[in-house]
Amino acid sequence: MLINLSPTPPDAVMLAARLFAEDPRPHKVNLGIGMYYDEEGRIPQLAAVREADHRLRSRNRPWPYLPAEGLVDLKNKAMPVVFGEDQADDLRRRTAWIQTVGGTGAVRIGAELARAIAPDAMASISDPSWPNHEAIFRAVGARVSSYRYYDVESCDIDVDGMLEDLGRLPRGTVVVLHGCCHNPTGFDPTPAQWNHIAQVLADHGLIPFIDLAYQGFGEGLEADAQSVRIIAQSCNLIFVSVSFSKSFSLYGERVGLLFVVTESEAQAALVGERARAVSRALYSSAPSNGALLIAEVLGDPQLKTTWIDELDAMRRRILLMRAELVDQLAGGNRGANFAPIKAQRGLFSYSGLTRTEIERLRVDHAIHAVGDGRICLAALNAGNLPSVAAAIRQVSS
Ligand code: PMP
Repeated sequence: MLINLSPTPPDAVMLAARLFAEDPRPHKVNLGIGMYYDEEGRIPQLAAVREADHRLRSRNRPWPYLPAEGLVDLKNKAMPVVFGEDQADDLRRRTAWIQTVGGTGAVRIGAELARAIAPDAMASISDPSWPNHEAIFRAVGARVSSYRYYDVESCDIDVDGMLEDLGRLPRGTVVVLHGCCHNPTGFDPTPAQWNHIAQVLADHGLIPFIDLAYQGFGEGLEADAQSVRIIAQSCNLIFVSVSFSKSFSLYGERVGLLFVVTESEAQAALVGERARAVSRALYSSAPSNGALLIAEVLGDPQLKTTWIDELDAMRRRILLMRAELVDQLAGGNRGANFAPIKAQRGLFSYSGLTRTEIERLRVDHAIHAVGDGRICLAALNAGNLPSVAAAIRQVSS
């Protein structure tokens, strides 16, 4: 049979990954993909995870399927990390959950559930956002709109614009929020601003969908979950999608969790049942290895402390790279324009580089980034930073 498919354009991040893979130049630098690299340019194997792996192997266990909902130990240990000890206890009974294939799986299953719960609801996504947010909500058949988030003129977050736009959304709209380390801008609301946002969400009957993919990479493990904890105090239907890919440096293990906080234990049971049916029809059950590793780390106070320290060291190294890059760009023509890179948080920076400049970085210098100007600061190190800074100065002069 003749296949008559129209071409499928890759999203901006996938396109950047493909162009990097195809670049034969040995000195190429990948600022396009969202992974944390250490000072030696390697994806780290965290000591806490290595020890957990060692312990799991020594137990000589078989590899059964996980239950339909996933590893309950992972959920029990992760809930306090996300919601805080006290709030996790309060919410446990009325929170549905399912382990998912990475954070992406959590967003997808959450979107499916949101569609089942509120079939006519639109999804509203920050402008700009991770491109897969729009793709996922469209894939489940939802209408998608955007709310203001970033002001190009001031190169800063536009919380007033955001609040105004949220206040105009129809009741029942699903509002996709980045819990921390907004991808791609690197700008997050302050706790006071989250309080305002939570108030508007509650007053207007909106459904928050908080995507938490970078907990620990912004201001710290606890501070980065303030968004979730504040919103959980105001709203009684909340989706929280969690990715452990970055925080445990376990990208390919595909570990994620979806929480749906509801009004009652009975509602949580209904949502959990539907979540299991959705995942059953997609892939039956989530993979076990990464989930076991993370549950082992979070379940052992010593390993958990080691992990928290390692996560904080990753966070601090990115901050150093931010400061160093801004310093090295300061003398250039557009030096002052790059100052916000230091104020941004997480893996990414919305650098302000134009599409043409990003293209020149790739073509002339083998430095790859996403076309909209997003660069991954976590791919910089003392070895490649000077040449990246020099190239940025050159293309932006
Ligand atoms: N949400 C956001 C905002 C992300 O940036 C990412 C990863 N790039 C994800 C979700 C998905 O994470 P995972 O790799 O665990 O599927």
